[in-house]
Formats: sequence, C-alpha cells, structure tokens
Amino acid sequence: MNTKYVFVTGGVASSLGKGILAASLAKLLQARGLRVTIQKFDPYINIDPGTLNPYEHGECYVTDDGAETDLDLGHYERFLGVHMSKANNVTTGKIYYTVINKEREGAYLGKTVQIVPHITDEIKRRMLLLGKTGKYDVVVTEIGGTVGDMESQPFLEAIRQLQWEMPEDDLASIHLTLVPYLSAAKELKTKPTQHSVQMLQQAGVFPDVIVCRTEKELTPEIRRKVALFCNVKPGHVIQSIDAPSIYQVPLNMENEGLDKMILDHFGIKDLPDPDFSRLKAFLSKLYHPKYQVDIALVGKYVELQDAYKSILESFIHSGAANECKVNVHTVQSEYIDQSNIEDKISGMDGILVAPGFGERGLEGKVLAIRYAREHDIPFFGICLGMQMCVVEFARDVLGFAEAASTEVNPATPYPVIDLMEDQKSTTIKGGTMRLGAYDCVLDQDSMAYRIYGKDKISERHRHRYEFNSDYLGKMEAAGLKATGRNPETGLVEIVEIPSHPFFIGVQFHPELKSTPEHPQPIFVAFVKAAMQYREENRSN
Ligand code: GLN
Repeated sequence: MNTKYVFVTGGVASSLGKGILAASLAKLLQARGLRVTIQKFDPYINIDPGTLNPYEHGECYVTDDGAETDLDLGHYERFLGVHMSKANNVTTGKIYYTVINKEREGAYLGKTVQIVPHITDEIKRRMLLLGKTGKYDVVVTEIGGTVGDMESQPFLEAIRQLQWEMPEDDLASIHLTLVPYLSAAKELKTKPTQHSVQMLQQAGVFPDVIVCRTEKELTPEIRRKVALFCNVKPGHVIQSIDAPSIYQVPLNMENEGLDKMILDHFGIKDLPDPDFSRLKAFLSKLYHPKYQVDIALVGKYVELQDAYKSILESFIHSGAANECKVNVHTVQSEYIDQSNIEDKISGMDGILVAPGFGERGLEGKVLAIRYAREHDIPFFGICLGMQMCVVEFARDVLGFAEAASTEVNPATPYPVIDLMEDQKSTTIKGGTMRLGAYDCVLDQDSMAYRIYGKDKISERHRHRYEFNSDYLGKMEAAGLKATGRNPETGLVEIVEIPSHPFFIGVQFHPELKSTPEHPQPIFVAFVKAAMQYREENRSN
C-alpha cells in the first residue's frame, strides 16, 4: 500500500482544535492497526518557536531529539503515545532557509527563485518526507493558521499541486470550521463555514470531509445544507461538539464516522475495530473523581493557558491516575510579595513552580518556595522552578543572602545557578540551549528513585543554566540533596529535601512525557502527596 496523506486545514477562527482533530484522527487510525504519524506546518517565519515568547504562541514543546516545536506536537505525543522528532514540525522559516541556502550554493543557477515552484516544491518535499521513510501507512499533516491568511497560501498551493500529482486515493483533505450558535436568533449559522470552504476551494483545495466545531448538535438539515453549498458528499459533514475533555474527541470522531470516511476514501478495508478500553478507563476516572486537591501553579505566563499546556495536561493524567480532581490555581509570581503570600498560597495542597526565563516574577517564585519549604506543603519545581529552590535554600538556609542565578545577576557573590560551561561561548540564541532527552541516574536512597522505581531515567531538557556544583557540599550538608545526575557530565538534574514530606526540584521537563496512558511518575506522586497533605491539614 502507498503511504496515505491526510491534510487538515482550519477556517473561520483559530483555536478550534485543529491539533486535537488531527491527533484524534491519527489515534483512530492507529487504534485500527495502522502506523501513523502527524506533522505540523506552521506559517510563521521563525525557524522554530524556540525564540518565541510563550505569550505569542503558547508553550514551546521539546522532543527527544531536541527540536523546539509547536505545542500541538505535545498533543500528538499524548494522543498517540509515540515520539515526535525534528521532522514533525516545519515552519515557513525553515522552508525559506532551505531554499535560500540552496540558492547561495548555486542549485538554481540561472533561474529566478520564486514562491511557485521553488518554495512550493520545498513544501511538498517536506510534506512527503516522513511518508518516504517507509515507517508510516498514514501521515496526517496539520496546516497551522486559518484559511484566508496570506501566510498559509503557499501551503495550500502545495496541497493543490499534490492533489493533481498523487493518485486520488492517496490523499484526503479535511477542513475544520466553526458553526456558531446565535443565542438571540436561537440558530446555528453556516455562512462562515460556506465562506471558508469557498476560500479553500478558490485556492484549489477540495475538502473530502468538513468537520464543524459547534456547541449545539448539528441537525441533519444543517449537515445537508453545508454539504450542498460546500460541494462535499452528503454524510461527509460531521460535528465536533464541545467535549468535557480533549481525550473524548477521538471517541466523538469515531461516533461521527470520521475514520471510516477516510479509510473508505483510501480504499483501505477490513481493519479491526479499535479497542479503546484503556482510553475509556482513563476517561471514566477523569469524569468521576473521588478526591480533589488545590494546587498552585506559580509562574509568570499564567494569563495564557497555553503557556503551560503540558503541565496542565500532566495534572489531568496524574489526577485521573489518583482518581483525584486537580484544581490548578494559577498564581502570577510577579504579584507575590511578603504581604500577600499567605493569602495567595496558604490554602493550597501543593505548589508547583513553573519553568521560565528572565527576571520578571523571580522573587515571587522564591517566596512561594520558601512558604512551601517552611510549611511542609508539597513542592515541585520544574527547570527554573528547581533553580529558584536552590537559590531560596542558599539564601535562607545557608545564609547567602545575595545568592542568585547568574541569568539575572551575573555579579552575584554566590552564583549557585550558573551558565553551563558549553553555553559560555554561545552567542546565537536559536536552538542552542541544552535541548532534548538526556539520561539521569538516580540515587537509590532518594524519593526520586522511589517515585520512578528504577535508577536510570531519561527526561527532556531546555535550559542554559545549571546547579553550580561548587556549592554542592554545603547544600547537602544543610539538607538539600542532589539525587539525580547526568552520568556523562555529572550535572545535577534533581534536588530534594529529605526532611520535608515532598520537596523536589528537577532541571528537566517531566511534563513533556506525560500521557493519559502513562502519566508522569513525579506528577502522580506529587498529586498523591497533595492528597495526603489535604487529608492531614483540612478538617472538611
Ligand atoms: N532560564 C533557565 C535556564 O535557561 C530555566 C529555563 C527553563 O525553565 N526552561 O536555564
């Protein structure tokens, strides 16, 4: 069988859940035994989102192989349980970079280099690249942005060309739109969908299925109307109704018959029915929790949910594993001070201090950590959160009042967190941090070892600064232990306070590897510790 390609475009509005739709379809096909991967094409000129502020584009998701990618790749991994790689996220920037470099090398000597065919050829090459590896039966490609954006035109043009170049039953196209409900008129409105599909068709891309995001059930008449006006087969207009959890969407799409439509289009027959018993067991725990906890997520990008996407998802996975609803309360670290810390944090059963960059909100993080340490509240620090717990400990327990990370205070007399040696000569900002999966060896006498149940783990990183081992002796003597280290470099990856009920800081990003079926162990243990704290400290 030839590798099959599905393209997912979006119209009317952004944030309709194109990534979730792409991941859901991939999950349905995977559950029927096909080898499936997903890739995302983003229309911006940055080479990757690594240089973007989270406010611009949400969390930057890091893969095992060290690619800094769009957060939708996180959804792909969480839904499929397979690892993404550098090749799964392509930006306009990467396309142009390749073409311009080739031009300089003389690859197009004598020719005018143009969007069509040179840019579109490079887009097509990348669209087919994963399929050419022979590792996949189906490659689902999500096109970022919204149809009608000037920026995504070349991507649509590339799909248009592929439609003519490939056998019809090797390529399918799905368009996700919004059917808004006007409460004043008590009606669902299809006009925006009609316009969006018209625009897509003007670009030469003809959708095989239209998925309508909606808050109310679509009636058969509405489905027929959209099919008629948008020129798709009756029955190929389906709904994606607001769901209580994104992990419900694959099941909803199966009910709507999305996978069957795509398989019919590809002429693939006789696949086994999917077995979703594990997903259903997860959802049942998620929907019927027996317990609850309140966790503070202390960070500086809290106004934008997407900035901490993987952390929030990890709480959903680890909450379900504990049959516990995790109420995450975001706390803007910039506004925490001595006078309000009690108000903001004292009612919490656990405190997570988030990753981040730069100076803003750092002192608030230090105060939150001190509160957790002194009040025996379960504490979990990730990356910058771990670095700040080292700073806090140095200041308050070791008495080094001016201790700091050199990221914000290069002149500190106590650089307890310092630039990694190999970062000192780096001047380029893009793609030069310590990125991707690294091994970590755990101390057998540690909470980390008990949590993971093994002594060798691998987690993903994204940082330039590290624990300064010059201070290790003093820290350990005073009660902050380094319990996980990189076996090659000796870098400290985990710190703990064994005398505290649950106090752990990790230099890596455990949230990037959590999935519903394999919740990340530290998150699971943290939620459990929070449940215990709540039981011991709250009478009701
Ligand atoms: N800013 C810190 C560093 O570069 C932490 C990074 C992070 O939290 N991802 O080391």
